[in-house]
Formats: sequence, C-alpha cells, structure tokens
Amino acid sequence: MKKDDLIQVKIEDMGADGAGIGKMDGFAVFIKDAVIGDEVEAKVMKVKKTYAYARLTQVLTPSPWRVEAPCPVARRCGGCQLQAMAYEEQLRFKENKIENNLRRIGGMEEIPFEPICGMEHPLGYRNKAQFPVGTDKNGRIITGFYAGRTHSIIENRKCLLGVPENEKVLDAVVEFMEEEHIPAYDETTGRGLVRHVLIRYGFTTGELMVCLVINGRKLRHGERLAEKLAAIPGMTSLTLNVNTQRTNVILGREILPVWGREYIEDYIGDIRYRISPLSFFQVNPVQTRKLYEKVLEYAALTGEETVWDLYCGIGTISLFLARQAKRVCGVEIVPAAIEDARENARMNGITNAEFFVGKAEEVLPAKYAQEGVTADVIVVDPPRKGCESSLLDTIVQMNPQRVVYVSCDSATLARDLKYLKERGYELVRGQGVDQFPMSVHVEAVTCLQRVE
Ligand code: SAH
Repeated sequence: MKKDDLIQVKIEDMGADGAGIGKMDGFAVFIKDAVIGDEVEAKVMKVKKTYAYARLTQVLTPSPWRVEAPCPVARRCGGCQLQAMAYEEQLRFKENKIENNLRRIGGMEEIPFEPICGMEHPLGYRNKAQFPVGTDKNGRIITGFYAGRTHSIIENRKCLLGVPENEKVLDAVVEFMEEEHIPAYDETTGRGLVRHVLIRYGFTTGELMVCLVINGRKLRHGERLAEKLAAIPGMTSLTLNVNTQRTNVILGREILPVWGREYIEDYIGDIRYRISPLSFFQVNPVQTRKLYEKVLEYAALTGEETVWDLYCGIGTISLFLARQAKRVCGVEIVPAAIEDARENARMNGITNAEFFVGKAEEVLPAKYAQEGVTADVIVVDPPRKGCESSLLDTIVQMNPQRVVYVSCDSATLARDLKYLKERGYELVRGQGVDQFPMSVHVEAVTCLQRVE
C-alpha cells in the first residue's frame, strides 16, 4: 500500500475518534466519515508501519446501519462521532469494544457480561455543556463547539445532546455581550474576556446553573446578564469562573458569585446532591441511575459491610450505597468535591458516611498501614487512566470479598482486572452502560470476587 492508491475496503470497526477502520494487506486503514458496514472507496493519504490513513472518496455500498445524522453539524463538530450509525449498532460497537479489550489486554477467555444497557431516547441526555465563545472573521460573537481536534468554533447553540435551556442561555449571553460591548476571549492573543459558558441543568429539580469562564475577575454590568437569565425558568445560579491562564484547560480554580446560589441541586434515585460549578457530576442522569443501581446490585450489601468508595467525587456512589451498608468511606482528590460530599451526606440525613481528601493511591495505603482499616466491599471509579498499581496492591492486601470496578475506559479496566486476577480476584459479572450515546465512549461496571 502506498500514498495516493485508490483502495476498496469494508469498514469493520471504528477508532477512538470515530473514524471507520477497514483491514487491507495487513494494514488497518482509518477512514473518516465511514461507518461500520460500509463498503467504500478511499484514497490513501499516509502509510505507517501497521496502519494507514485514507480519505473517503465514495461509499460504494452503504452500511445497513447508516442513518441520516440528526444534527446538521454532526460531521464538522467534534462532540459526536457516531451520529451516522443507527443506535443499536452503536451499542453493539461499544459492547464489542469492551469485550475485545478484556480479551486482548485483560487476557480473559470468558466474558461474563450482561447485555449492554442502552438508552430508550439517546438524545437530549446531557445535564452539562461547556460552550466556547469566540469571534468570527466579521467580528461577530459566536458560540458552539470545537471542530474535531481543532479550536475553531462550529457555531451551534442547539446541541442535540443537551437540554433546550442551553440555547436560551447562550442567546442571552451573546445578546448581553453585544449590548455591553464585552469581547470574547481570543486564544491567539490571550486578550478579551469571555472564554466559555458552562451550563448545568438538574433533570429532576429543573434548576439551571450558568457559569461564565472569564479572563479576568470582573464582569461589567453582570447584573444585566443576571436580569436576562432570570427570565429563563429554573434559573438558580449565576457565577463567574476566573481563568486568566493561557491554557486549554477550561476552568480556573476560583468561583465568584453574581446572582442566586453558588450551586444547584439534583437527584439520582432518592438521594439529593449539591453540585458546584467545579465538582464532577455524571453528565447523563438517566443512565447514571441505572449504573449506580448496578453498582448496588454487584456490591450485594446486607447492612453489615464496610465499604470504601475510591474516586468518590461528590459522594454520589457512596451515598447511594450508604443506606444498605454499615459504613461507607469515600476518597477523592478534589477538596471542593469532598466538601460537597459531606454536605450531601448531611442533607440526606446519612450519618454512616465519612470522606477523605487525597489521592486514592496515597490515602488508602496510608490508612491501611497506620490504622489497619478494613473493607468488605471496595468500589473504584477512576478517571480514564485507571488505578495505580500501588492502590491495587493495597486493595489486594485489604482482602475484601468483592471489588466493584466502574470504568470509563475499557482498556485500562482490562489492564487493572488482569492485575487483580493474578492476585486472587475473578471477574464474575459485568455490564456496559451507555452513558454517552452518539460518542465512542462507554462506561462499564464489573464485579470481582475473591477466589477462596
Ligand atoms: N464516583 C464519582 C466520580 C467519578 S469520576 C461519580 O460517579 O460521580 C472520577 C473522580 O476521581 C473525579 O471526581 C476525580 O476528581 C477523581 N480523581 C482523579 N484522580 C484521583 C486520585 N488519584 N485519587 C482520588 N480521586 C481522584
């Protein structure tokens, strides 16, 4: 295979950025905008050792799962990768991805998984959105999402993954900026003020949070923005986030109040949670409930257990489990999230949950070495990079009956399960949960049992 070859290939898989993958002459060929099941013609652009990139020139036979993307900017926008594929096929793709990783990286033969848990209505599910704000070449203020792998803004205030309130908020913010001559931030010069609009919506409470990320500490006539936003039903909280760094990181550390409360509240099941602009909260509340119910099922609590919930965020899983355990201890690296977790416990009248700030891989080993803490069940829900082996070692030493591992990256999940399997824990059950329809990401929850 060489550059400029015209090839014909069948798409069998999809890569991390949603490009179709076909196999040819031992190469994996990545072809953007091709869908699993398509037979395509493509022109080879770049050839590496074992893989190549090609540009789609023609769909010869469209995939039976090819559909019209519901969003008009789906192809250009970097937010969604799978809109052109029927939802059942998206689910099958995600299920295969988890299984393949568990086999290939985890070295497992048997994959004791339940069928993946998908959504009945796979759009409009996100409770959070972060819209970048910029200026087009005519000096007009625009907002939307970044195009894939770039920082150019595709104008779109009607993201189909989000709630209808987003558009109303963005209309109000842009109108306010135009009226008050407030400039958008310019990444190339580091000047201008408004960088991002962070919006959160409580699906159960209907409470709406707006946080303007600004390159400064002051928003001139902020009260006028508050007045406009207050007309939107549910509006509860308007804050500023200070980010004066020249960085791709969206949020700075400091929150300044402008109007209303500094947080919103929402429910998962019958637990009420306080959510601040800076704390992590699962973005898909419908699926999160199903995910946490699975965690609860796999934890199989009788009321007598001591449970550790590592990477606990604002205590979401901890509190979900607390009523059926003797005691729950949560560990989380972000101090503000731990403050929320403690407040959430208090608000729900839960007195058997305790929270610790720090890295899971430091707090748990230290507490085990110094205080000899114990656990019957350990839950982990790490970010994409998975768990440090020092943490897994401590888990093994603590010798809990069950480990429930919740993962947003099945590759690191497979690596960590292999590590635990070699040390006496066997995978007994698991399930994929589609927290992110239309994107390539998938969550998995697994139950490991100590081998007696
Ligand atoms: N279980 C929670 C949060 C999961 S997201 C929920 O379902 O809502 C992962 C969390 O791990 C984030 O809150 C992040 O701040 C935290 N985190 C990242 N690295 C960590 C570490 N080394 N130790 C402890 N927490 C960490």
